Amino acid sequence: MIDGMTIADGHAHTYMDGLADKIVSSFTELHRMEPSPSLGKGTVDDLSRKMSDDGVDYTVLANFGPVKAMAKVNGWNLETAKRNRNLIPLVSVHPGMDPVEFLSLIGSGAKGVKMHNSIQEFDPCDPGLDGIYRICSDKGLPITFHCGEVSRVRLNGYADIGRIEDAVASHEDVTFILTHLAEGDPATVFRLADKYRNIVFDTSIAFSGEHCIHRIHDDFWEDDRNAAEAFRRIGCERIAFGSDYPFGNPISDVRRILGLDLTRDEKRRILGANTLALYGIE
Ligand SMILES: [Zn+2]
Repeated sequence: MIDGMTIADGHAHTYMDGLADKIVSSFTELHRMEPSPSLGKGTVDDLSRKMSDDGVDYTVLANFGPVKAMAKVNGWNLETAKRNRNLIPLVSVHPGMDPVEFLSLIGSGAKGVKMHNSIQEFDPCDPGLDGIYRICSDKGLPITFHCGEVSRVRLNGYADIGRIEDAVASHEDVTFILTHLAEGDPATVFRLADKYRNIVFDTSIAFSGEHCIHRIHDDFWEDDRNAAEAFRRIGCERIAFGSDYPFGNPISDVRRILGLDLTRDEKRRILGANTLALYGIE
């Protein structure tokens, strides 16, 4: 809790001990991020320590794996969340996944789906995902999409905003969380917000409290007044704080949101209430 508000970070990544170091440095290298002491270690212990030091009550594990490692990553993620009640686990899916397998992941505690289509290399509109979308709709499970380029790195077209938009448009009964403020272009954010009611935007990286990652998205979000006006225009019930830990630093983003010219209730929603509502946590 900070200032009497429950804080829920809607977007973080953790990796198995022993692998975290290597994965974090390959990501930062790929995305040409400047080294920063506030970069996390990417382990569950490090995340948990930061959460308790900083007053973050819940964190969504938006962990995902490539198709060949998916079963292992999903299993580890769900086990991790079972041991840590304040971690909310998402799982990965792929077009060849049997819906029965997805149902069993939900039975084991999965609270939603994370798709990083460019790394996972499949189209979000692949017909092989129809059964997964149907289950998400039936059970009210949200789907979190990685969106577009990050720091000008485009691996392929699968996470381009056009592909994401097609998936959103064809599944109006599913709630989608578009990370990085849908890649950060303000005009695109407003257009999508106006057109689709089933979108929540996550603030990660695009709106950041850390200088090292400021420069990689649209400069518009560096200005607090722009950000506050934009959040209000979209509706603060549709904006969710996400840090992208270990690549972002949760508490810096929280502090920046607390400093915005918004009402206490608007901040309360952005900082946690929206995310908790999405995952059905009281
Ligand atoms: Zn992420």
